[in-house]
Amino acid sequence: MHTNLEYYAKRQGMNTFTTLILVLLHIGAVAALFFFSWKCLIVSVVMYYIATGLGISMGYHRLHTHRSYKVPLWMEHFFALCGALTLEGGPIFWVATHRIHHQNSDQPGDPHSPRDGSWWSHIGWILFGETNHNNTRLMSKYAPDLAKDPFYVWLNNYHWVPNVVLAVILYVAGGLPLFLWAGCLRIVFGLHATWLVNSATHMWGARRFATRDDSRNNWWVALMTFGEGWHNNHHAHPTSARHGLAWYEFDPSWLLIKVLKAFGVAKAIQVASVHSRHSEKQAA
Ligand SMILES: [Zn+2]
Ligand SMILES: [Zn+2]
Repeated sequence: MHTNLEYYAKRQGMNTFTTLILVLLHIGAVAALFFFSWKCLIVSVVMYYIATGLGISMGYHRLHTHRSYKVPLWMEHFFALCGALTLEGGPIFWVATHRIHHQNSDQPGDPHSPRDGSWWSHIGWILFGETNHNNTRLMSKYAPDLAKDPFYVWLNNYHWVPNVVLAVILYVAGGLPLFLWAGCLRIVFGLHATWLVNSATHMWGARRFATRDDSRNNWWVALMTFGEGWHNNHHAHPTSARHGLAWYEFDPSWLLIKVLKAFGVAKAIQVASVHSRHSEKQAA
């Protein structure tokens, strides 16, 4: 298994197509700044919450990867669809990559550890690492629970389709400015925010728990990612639906899970407390 993981993390040549798309998106994101309007900003913020907040934080991460709470299947599918809107790949790819990260955090086999260089952990692993975005068969080994669901398999293979549909809608509804804002700029901001969880929160911030990795609690990354920046708490208690464990650790996704619980939608919620002892077993 370890040979496989090392192979997976091995650096190879530049991923030309991914790099080209990212360069174009960044150009679009800068261009957006010349077309500011309040409408564009508001739509972008709402789309950002749907994609990165509901899709990544609520969906791909706390639900699909760690199964820290349960919701009806239709809502699980909806969160996954939102996750695809970040252009961070389909659910099977994302979940598999993240589970490998937890298995080997800051050790050989970690797809994105700052110990291999801070830029590597931020964007290098995307540009130069092995891309298995569409290799559903390989990634399914690490996410067999998701691979059983035909919807997740479809979404993993065609993870870019929801964004193409959204791009057309944005262009028709608001022309070039809305396309640049809620499409390009919103995606680029979301990518960097998520990548900061891999880079910044393994370098900068406080460590409440003595985990075996370099994870940190970083308030400004938490603000950008709806609570994902409380990353040391998370590595100490990976299955906890609550990441901000102290009252002052703002965790919007945890608040939403509590609301869903109040309505009887979210169930089987796992929670660590600030006083819970970090257990090696839980972190394994
Ligand atoms: Zn981590
Ligand atoms: Zn995690």
